[in-house]
Amino acid sequence: VRVRVGPLAGIVPDSLDFCFDAIVTGTPLSRARLDIEKTLVKARCSGCGAGFEVEGTLFLCSRCGSADIEVVSGTELQVVEIEMADPQAELA
Ligand SMILES: [Zn+2]
Repeated sequence: VRVRVGPLAGIVPDSLDFCFDAIVTGTPLSRARLDIEKTLVKARCSGCGAGFEVEGTLFLCSRCGSADIEVVSGTELQVVEIEMADPQAELA
């Protein structure tokens, strides 16, 4: 299972991994693995229109320094892909 986690999703990837393991343990899915893909925070400046990546907690336009920016990505928590082996083979 591949998930995409943005830094602003309010999710700690390590916790997500830990919880996933705790949930699947003892079930037929116990061999399922979580593949976490971390993304960057991207924003667009409302002042000059520049698109940029936000570094750390500095939410300012990298071109003009304006604080009037719109976060365009980084809050996502998406399941990107679920890969399954042949269920019969898995349970045999
Ligand atoms: Zn700007």
